[in-house]
Amino acid sequence: MLMENKAENKAVFDEESAKEVVKELRDSFVTGKTKSYRWRVTQLKAMLKMLDENEPQIVAALRDDLSKPEFESSLYEIQMLKNSCRLALKEMNHWMMPEKAKTSLTTFPSSAEIISEPLGVVFVISAWNYPFLLSLDPVVGAISAGNAIVLKPSEMAPASSSLLAKLVADYLDCSCIKVVEGAVPETSALLEQKWDKILYTGNGKVARIVMAAAAKHLTPVVLELGGKSPVIVDSDINLKVATRRIIVGKWGCNNGQACISPDYIITTKDYATKLVDSFKCELERFYGKDPLESKDLSRIVNSNHFDRLSKLMDEEKVSSKIVHGGQRNEKDLQIAPTILLDVPVNSLIMKEEIFGPLLPIITVDKVEQSFDLIHSSGGKPLAAYLFTNNKKLKRKFVETVSAGGLVVNDTAVHLAIHSLPFGGVGESGMGSYHGKFSFDAFSHKKAVLYRGFAGDAFLRYPPYTPGKLTLL
Ligand code: NAD
Repeated sequence: MLMENKAENKAVFDEESAKEVVKELRDSFVTGKTKSYRWRVTQLKAMLKMLDENEPQIVAALRDDLSKPEFESSLYEIQMLKNSCRLALKEMNHWMMPEKAKTSLTTFPSSAEIISEPLGVVFVISAWNYPFLLSLDPVVGAISAGNAIVLKPSEMAPASSSLLAKLVADYLDCSCIKVVEGAVPETSALLEQKWDKILYTGNGKVARIVMAAAAKHLTPVVLELGGKSPVIVDSDINLKVATRRIIVGKWGCNNGQACISPDYIITTKDYATKLVDSFKCELERFYGKDPLESKDLSRIVNSNHFDRLSKLMDEEKVSSKIVHGGQRNEKDLQIAPTILLDVPVNSLIMKEEIFGPLLPIITVDKVEQSFDLIHSSGGKPLAAYLFTNNKKLKRKFVETVSAGGLVVNDTAVHLAIHSLPFGGVGESGMGSYHGKFSFDAFSHKKAVLYRGFAGDAFLRYPPYTPGKLTLL
């Protein structure tokens, strides 16, 4: 929704507009409408209907914004969202039930429970790479928890943003759920308002702006960020399966433009050539001899990101390390799956999150040294992956690597497991969502203790005579 500025004949959304939106939603929230189980069910069913009836339009918008292959749009955006809606519809009744809590002798006789209550009016700011999933998945959680919601999709995926605005207005209750389209000015105007929770998905720089704005109102935040997610490849593996699973997590997820995309590989010097050969073989099988012609790879989102990725590839000490791929087409914003072997650890490509189709391989003498390399990079990534059959290595990986999530012998698939929380740690974010964790992210856990008038122990009342404490 955007406000019409008649004088200049262009749409503006300023602080006044933001204030009005939040007031309207707060007025709706205080009526108690969103709290009812019935309202929550109706909205989730409406979202399912919206996804069912508009799949071709969603696929087309994602094609416009990213040339996203239909298979990826259907599976990772639409199907995953439907699964979230279905899970919430099935489990929400149970999630909403007060949870019995134990009491102690101090309050005997008494009983206690924890009630999940909606937080109020919440703000979801989403990113461009999975514009439907990253916008609507948090909304599913916020609806199931009974909140009113403003969603601000990313302006970098404009076709998806405008379709989201239209569909949400057409299918969902617009007195409680609104989409505001726009970029920095609109988001800034909204961030000035008082929210009961903000869930932000995007980069760490903007996350700091979001957190600073939230601090003014003591608003809690969930920050879904990124980082350099490493993949350790041991030699004790099924090479073909490992290669395919890395490929699909990297290039099969938006051509590397995914937050949990493998960012770089660490393997041993002895094994690197075998691994590179396997990548070459499987990449050609998946994307053909000329991957720029493949319809199964997304393009780079815009020319800024194309230039950023080109700069990473063209750095002098890096460009000679390309062992596969490297082709690009500036006009169509395409970059082929590209593998670089033995890039220096102080190169640009190893300093920032790649977020694109480039995959550097770093080599070590012994696979155990991978852990030191990850630790010495300082940051805690959003995901870390290990391929091995070696039990000792698996144990060391799980015990020592700190990341949002870990996967052994696959990449990225943990995202689809609703019983696992999805979120980062340290620089890769704070808080989590998915499944019941989404419901919890948008709920306040209210502690309630019930007492009668019996069992009124005199010990707690003054006068505090000597020895009273020892009787307690
Ligand atoms: P983006 O450019 O779409 O920005 C995200 C949101 O921030 C947008 O809605 C945008 O309008 C808003 N924004 C941008 N600048 C702002 C400002 N100055 N003030 C207020 N709001 C502002 O997305 P991006 O940041 O390029 O996304 C890529 C990053 O996000 C990567 O680091 C990636 O790893 C991370 N990411 C994380 C997840 C996750 O679930 N953890 C998912 C996708 C992407």
